[in-house]
Amino acid sequence: MIQEQGNISVHSENIFPIIKKWLYSDKDIFLRELVSNASDAIIKLKGLVSIGEAKVEPDTKYEIRVVLDEKKKTIQVIDNGIGMTADEVKKYINQVAFSGAEDFLAKYRDKMDEGSQIIGHFGLGFYSAFMVADKVQIDTLSYQEGAEAVRWICSGGAEYKMEPSDRKERGTTVTLYIAEDSEEFLSEYRLRQILEKYCYFLPFEIYLENANKKDKEPLKPINDTQPLWLKKPGECTDEEYKEFYKKVFNEYQDPLFWIHLNVDYPFNLKGILYFPKLRNDFQSLEGKIKLYCNQVFVADNIKEVIPEFLMLLKGTIDCPDLPLNVSRSFLQNDGYVNKISAHITRKVADKLTGMFKNERENYNKYWDDINPFIKFGCMKDEKFYERMKDAIIFKTLSGEYVTLKDYLNKNQDKHKNQVFYVTDEKQQAQYINLFKENGLEAVLLTTIVDTHFIQFLEMKEDKVKFKRIDSDLSESLKDSGDGANEAEDKKLAEDLEALFKEALKDDKLKVKVEGLKATSVPAMILLPEESRRLHDMSIFFSGMNMDLPKEQTLVLNKKNPLIQALARLKNEEGRKEDVQMICEQVYDLAMLSHRQLEPEQMTKFIKRSNEILTRFLN
Ligand code: ADP
Repeated sequence: MIQEQGNISVHSENIFPIIKKWLYSDKDIFLRELVSNASDAIIKLKGLVSIGEAKVEPDTKYEIRVVLDEKKKTIQVIDNGIGMTADEVKKYINQVAFSGAEDFLAKYRDKMDEGSQIIGHFGLGFYSAFMVADKVQIDTLSYQEGAEAVRWICSGGAEYKMEPSDRKERGTTVTLYIAEDSEEFLSEYRLRQILEKYCYFLPFEIYLENANKKDKEPLKPINDTQPLWLKKPGECTDEEYKEFYKKVFNEYQDPLFWIHLNVDYPFNLKGILYFPKLRNDFQSLEGKIKLYCNQVFVADNIKEVIPEFLMLLKGTIDCPDLPLNVSRSFLQNDGYVNKISAHITRKVADKLTGMFKNERENYNKYWDDINPFIKFGCMKDEKFYERMKDAIIFKTLSGEYVTLKDYLNKNQDKHKNQVFYVTDEKQQAQYINLFKENGLEAVLLTTIVDTHFIQFLEMKEDKVKFKRIDSDLSESLKDSGDGANEAEDKKLAEDLEALFKEALKDDKLKVKVEGLKATSVPAMILLPEESRRLHDMSIFFSGMNMDLPKEQTLVLNKKNPLIQALARLKNEEGRKEDVQMICEQVYDLAMLSHRQLEPEQMTKFIKRSNEILTRFLN
């Protein structure tokens, strides 16, 4: 019979206020720590049973019970696992844990902020109980034959008491006497929430019981003991993957596709990564990767383990060997963690390039959804880019999906190394029509990532130049070789330029006269690619809307009858007002198909349009 009283071997006077304070940010995890300990205790016992070292009743059902008693203000975590002998309690609870905790705190004292964050995530094991309890009692009976049940009580000081316990069944009960400042945890709802968050995939059934409820319905376990990621990929059906996705991420839409990670060597890693269907708003690009350690939830989106760009995906990753009791800076520099991260990246790239090669049609179909992710990944991770670069495709105006090589090869004679692109099909419709009429191809680059991605590609693929469709005239749009007189042409250009500058009262206006194949188009506006990019960038970084730079050029089409008429009538007495009005109108129309008019400009435009109509009938 044990009867003992002693001092816990700890040097700092009272470690509990420190634990409380440091862990304050994330008190919830006390329950995760205790339930994980209970689960570990069952795993250990099962291990011993399997090698014949321990005996249990043949129909033993392993389970963990969390019992709330609001009246007594207690929470109990009860398991039927391995239990502890008195010696083990001394060794594991008194000494090891305390010195472990003390070392831990001593180590992170200087890095308070960082340390507290980590503790918040990863906990201090059993001693996390003192975050919410001012007294903790353990009642435990070891599986060993002839073992006696022990009770351990500690009231938050550096003192503990050990005595015999009346516990009859093998296993451990940890009873928390909840402190006044933590009474929020004396709520069934709250406990369920915490259990569902952290313990949803624990391998043994967990029951939440309310000791004060009279009419007890048969309880259902709160967890799913067989998470899909543990099954062999070959044994999972599509339906199972989809169902799992919807359940875990509260999604109603199916994912596009997924990757089942299943590695045993050189490290242990299991998980499922889903490519979600994107909605149009940019916000939904935010994904969620849940990190587990032996089926126990650790945290979402731990960027040290999971490459940042993968955070756009949704998934669960279980990494049993992660060194989680360490700081973030350690995680960052840990070779093992880096390997995991690199492995995940490689698997994702393999899956995508595999689809590109073998399921091109599906790949094309998914491209609209997955391209922001891939582009972002390429810019973030050199290795990912190297693997992916030949599988980057572009959607063309005609709805085809082509690689950069395809595009350049096909359009080599027309565009050289230029890639013409469209960012807004409606806004740039006029230019698109011109392209289509002349059998030219442009690609669609419509997401925010694209602005950055094309800069990135230009850096990687020298010679290649991306040009928005309204930034320059492709040679193929021009009507060449009509044998016109050069001197005459020059004169015409000068006249038209002078005419428009005067009519628009803008001396600085850049005017260029060209002969376009599309004779129906009188004029268009071009804005050099570089100026526009600079402008877009400043909007992006300042968040303010700014006027377009003045570098735009008004291109007049000398093949167009209206422009020809203007040139003819410009000096005719009595037509001055008409000419003036038409010049303004031509300019506004060109502007209008380039971008939206400013309110004042728009008002003038409408007024003038009406006037022209009236004159037309007079
Ligand atoms: P860790 O779980 O990280 O080892 P803890 O402080 O949580 O640290 O627990 C210390 C030790 O106490 C455990 O390693 C285990 O040996 C023992 N222990 C804790 N809880 C239980 C339990 N429910 N059943 C049996 N042993 C336990």
